[in-house]
Amino acid sequence: MPQAALILYNSLSRSAEPFRPLDPAGVRVYSCGPTVYNYAHLGNLRAYVFTDTLARTLRWKGYPLTHVMNITDVGHLQSDADEGADKMEARARETGKDIWAIARHYTEAFKRNLRDLNVQEMSRMPLATDHVDEMIAFAAAIADRHCYLLDGGLYFDTATVPDYGRLAGRAEDEREGRIDPVEGKRHPEDFAIWRRSAPGENRQMEWDSPWGRGAPGWHLECSVMSRLYLGERFDIHTGGIDHREIHHPNEIAQNQAHRGCGNEPGFTGATVWMHNNFLVERAGKMSKSSGEFLTLQTALDRGFHPLAYRLMCLQAHYRSEMEFSWEGLAAAAIRLKRLVQTVATLRHLAGPSRGGDFPSPAISDQLDEFDRAISDDLATPRALVALDRLLSLKKQSPASMLGAIARMDEVLGLSLLSLDRADLRVRPVDAMIDERAVAARLGDRVQARAARDFARSDAIRAELAASGVDVMDGDALGWDWRPKG
Ligand code: AMP
Ligand code: ZN
Repeated sequence: MPQAALILYNSLSRSAEPFRPLDPAGVRVYSCGPTVYNYAHLGNLRAYVFTDTLARTLRWKGYPLTHVMNITDVGHLQSDADEGADKMEARARETGKDIWAIARHYTEAFKRNLRDLNVQEMSRMPLATDHVDEMIAFAAAIADRHCYLLDGGLYFDTATVPDYGRLAGRAEDEREGRIDPVEGKRHPEDFAIWRRSAPGENRQMEWDSPWGRGAPGWHLECSVMSRLYLGERFDIHTGGIDHREIHHPNEIAQNQAHRGCGNEPGFTGATVWMHNNFLVERAGKMSKSSGEFLTLQTALDRGFHPLAYRLMCLQAHYRSEMEFSWEGLAAAAIRLKRLVQTVATLRHLAGPSRGGDFPSPAISDQLDEFDRAISDDLATPRALVALDRLLSLKKQSPASMLGAIARMDEVLGLSLLSLDRADLRVRPVDAMIDERAVAARLGDRVQARAARDFARSDAIRAELAASGVDVMDGDALGWDWRPKG
């Protein structure tokens, strides 16, 4: 049974804190989801491997979980600080496509990415555009006391809530001097909660509101949907580290305003605010708006199994910056293959008689260490070491080893017991190895050898080698071929 107390790093206090659920009978988590104007890049997907690791860890700890992730299909401007065009509208204009079709296409692609990465199903994935009425009602409730109207729309006055920007941890003087293109704003940090369409602006998505026809500001949707699905108070709110600076402080300000912050200055909505660090390339942070970017499909096209990327993410702590390189992904793929091969051997040894065995003390030790690692602010690199140690134990019952691996995999999500070794062949897209043709030639070779026609068998081996295939005779794990390295 899991023993260690769960500790999570809270960006609000900038410290690791023991996790105390508001209601142990059901933990409530909200994760900021993608803006669906393009494919998710590998950096975005790192954010969701992190939230999934959090969700799996909470479940491992025995908490029933409600996990909500929004889909942003309206309102996110090109800069988080309220500048530029709406990303969705800009994309529609660029491509000449229907904005709703764009949203649907990238939402589906995103959900496919999550499935490929073994991200467990959310309780709900609400769309912003399905909640515009609730957003208008929320804005109307705070407008008198906390907002002011400009030509551009309804703006939130950040001076009307206590401690604005505490989450960002910005010093007062750092906030000065931000150049702001919006005339009439009372403070540079003030932000639009309803954006009025400019005269002559041709938006595909717009709605009527008490502040004119237009669209909701991006920050509003998360305050509204988290409150609607998880309640005014919930346990954990997640996002990438960039959200710690603007998006989440603005959500907190809205939450405070709606709650009536005078009564309760410490109120922030979620108790714990967690942020994953960035995936970077040597050239800098990976970003969707910078033209070329790496998607999961790019990795699949290069012959990588998606779970190799998941493992790559788990090898770094979520609060550390992680640098992407193809060599790094290849190393993760090899590590995954080794894990899967070892598990395959154990499955072979265990045969059909599975389960029933109690873990030996040596196995229990590694399960305990695994639990301590993930309980320590999701220290997945350490948890993977516990898995490695478990796999290197000698003279254990294969069935109880498999039981322990299955337990660990509940958190790791690497499909260690079901992945097929053949799935993990790293095959460059341009190598053009046709697996069926290889299998057929290997069949011919088996026949040739059975007929003791070794010349023919050798000729087939040479022919396969010329097309990039290494024939593996007598491989201990039963692989019959692999792509030439
Ligand atoms: P977006 O679709 O741009 O709204 O971003 C979706 C999520 O990905 C947010 O939680 C971002 O904070 C996060 N994110 C964006 N870029 C990166 C990156 N390079 N590495 C890790 N997370 C990122
Ligand atoms: Zn959000």
